[in-house]
Amino acid sequence: MKLQEPVKGAGRVFQMYAPRLERLGIVTFEDFLYHIPSRYEDYTLFSKIAHTQPGETVTIQGDVISIQNVYTRSRKVIQKALVADDTGNIEITWYNQPFLTKYINQGDTVAFSGKIDTFQHKTVLVSPDYEIVNEKTGSTLIHTGRLVPVYPETHGVSSKWLRRQIYKILHEQRGELHEFLPEEMLRRNRFLPFEQAMKTIHFPTTLQQAVLARERLSFDELFLYQLASFYRRSQWEEKLEGKAFAVKDHKPKLDMFIKSLPFILTNAQMLAVGNILYDVSQTKPMNRLLQGDVGSGKTVVATVAMYEAFLNNAQSVFMAPTEILATQHYNTISKLLSPFGVKVGLATSSIKYLVSSIKQKRQNTKYKIQDTEADVLVGTHALLSKNVTFKNLGLVVIDEQQRFGVEQRGIIRQKGENPHLLTMTATPIPRTVALTLYGDLDLSYLNEMPKGRKKIKTWLVPPIKREGAYSWMRKEIKNTASQAFIICPFIEESENMTTVKAAVKEYERLKTVIFPDLKLALLHGKLKGKEKDAILADFKDKKYDILVATPVVEVGIDVPNATIMVIEAAERFGLAQLHQLRGRVGRGEKQSYCLLFTESKNEQTIERIKAMETMHVGAELAEYDLRLRGPGELYGTMQSGQVALKIASFSDFPLIERARKEAEHIFPQLAKYPLLQEKLQKHLAKVISPD
Ligand code: ADP
Ligand code: MG
Repeated sequence: MKLQEPVKGAGRVFQMYAPRLERLGIVTFEDFLYHIPSRYEDYTLFSKIAHTQPGETVTIQGDVISIQNVYTRSRKVIQKALVADDTGNIEITWYNQPFLTKYINQGDTVAFSGKIDTFQHKTVLVSPDYEIVNEKTGSTLIHTGRLVPVYPETHGVSSKWLRRQIYKILHEQRGELHEFLPEEMLRRNRFLPFEQAMKTIHFPTTLQQAVLARERLSFDELFLYQLASFYRRSQWEEKLEGKAFAVKDHKPKLDMFIKSLPFILTNAQMLAVGNILYDVSQTKPMNRLLQGDVGSGKTVVATVAMYEAFLNNAQSVFMAPTEILATQHYNTISKLLSPFGVKVGLATSSIKYLVSSIKQKRQNTKYKIQDTEADVLVGTHALLSKNVTFKNLGLVVIDEQQRFGVEQRGIIRQKGENPHLLTMTATPIPRTVALTLYGDLDLSYLNEMPKGRKKIKTWLVPPIKREGAYSWMRKEIKNTASQAFIICPFIEESENMTTVKAAVKEYERLKTVIFPDLKLALLHGKLKGKEKDAILADFKDKKYDILVATPVVEVGIDVPNATIMVIEAAERFGLAQLHQLRGRVGRGEKQSYCLLFTESKNEQTIERIKAMETMHVGAELAEYDLRLRGPGELYGTMQSGQVALKIASFSDFPLIERARKEAEHIFPQLAKYPLLQEKLQKHLAKVISPD
């Protein structure tokens, strides 16, 4: 066995296990080693049978006097064993494990770990972990009698099975876990050597040791991410230097365009525009990430850049993750740019190609998208089709970039010759995380909201106030002619039939029982693109008072007259997501409201949601959530293409800082460290790059 070998080629058992293991992210034998325990069971206390105390978690070792299956009156089967050591004997029971009596036999010497209990005044051990002790070979205990690692499991793969494999791999590998960090770095940071860290994290002798091992391996992970982003940046610069089309500045025309906007750009927007215009004037393609809270006005920043491209006779493409969003962007962008002679097109899977310009008003003819004649083509994934080609693609804009995979981002870029790239996201990423993941990109951050935006009044609504909340909504809708969103619970990560069914049911209840006097519509992800567009268009035209929706509306839609956002089962969402949803309202002049419904009685949960009442900046909420719940929660709900850490935590700010400093220091002399280089190459091959 070699660590790099895929498990599925290693015999029948592994072949059978392979699909399940893949669910745990285990493909090669090395991946087993990076499957890190989530905790340890402390079975270190050995006790003689006579000395055990009820309530104690202990390990006893003894000879099996008898073991058998016993059938109860209710036809359940229990396993009873009697075990003795030189101080006495103890009764051990398991439930429903009939195979046990085949595995453990009379006369075997066995170690048992578990909690001592009493039953009818007798000391007993119920469902302990067990391990046959082979006294001749003196094999080490791995499932009992020590700190026993407990692993994340999946159906058909138990912690015990994983533990056995990992133990074997650790002991059978020969010199494959060689150190790859420079020695002086190890010394400076007092890190455990790699092999020792790997062995210790799985089978520590003390918890302190486990902590040290975890620190070392967490560092490795953060350090490699960091190194990878430096590497990608240098590659981008080396390979593409001189290859991009440097845009010439048309200042007077740009100024005129900016003056024509229906609002004044914020300082943050001006700054971002400045950054972008500088980037595109270079012969190296731009690679910039524009981060900005929901509603901070990213679209118009991108629009200025696309106008600049147009003035240089280059085409732009603007890709958005959903049909609803693409259509909306198409409308916004063509309204802004058409008066300046820019032909804006739309390509989605249901609308093949739609161009608008002053002369050519909305035209529904289906075009072949080859050599598109649009100056700016807005669209969804449909843009990735081979049929979409450009004559001279100069600028690629990707909205909500985290919704696209690396490959998709790659394909769209290949449609031009080293076009400039602007990616945008509203996912509030704390600064530390952004630096680790996106260290290779240039970042612009819209940290300022357009003037005149009112804070969205936000309340947590406990069950007893639900009725009151509904009547308040009815009054508000009737008195101010505003509209509301009601977001149904988030059931599964990706929208499936369960979510849809729940939404349909809730919609029926709201329509018939709660708001029979109002007009309601339902929007969910299983509807066809055209249906969704029609519902949304009708909602925008105020044909409905309330739009009941699954969390698909999370991303970017804009209905200025909607002022109420109701979110059901708010506790199921991360704060960053709640914030994104809340951002769907508060876009017009009127005061907006967000009602967060929860049935939860858990104080911490309630406190967490209550943060929404006082905090209104996405990045702050994300950071707060990160500290409260850890990154698993925050990033677990992020869509494809997002990176997950296996060992380290994005909330470990000091370690992130250290990893960054070390990476900065070592990167220029990487050539001196072949083992580290090799490790980096492996990392690059495996990890999805965020750019
Ligand atoms: P996001 O950053 O979430 O993509 P959008 O680009 O959709 O935000 O902008 C949100 C709304 O704010 C749009 O209706 C847009 O017209 C408006 N907007 C953008 N910039 C400004 C500004 N500087 N002043 C006022 N309104 C603005
Ligand atoms: Mg947007």
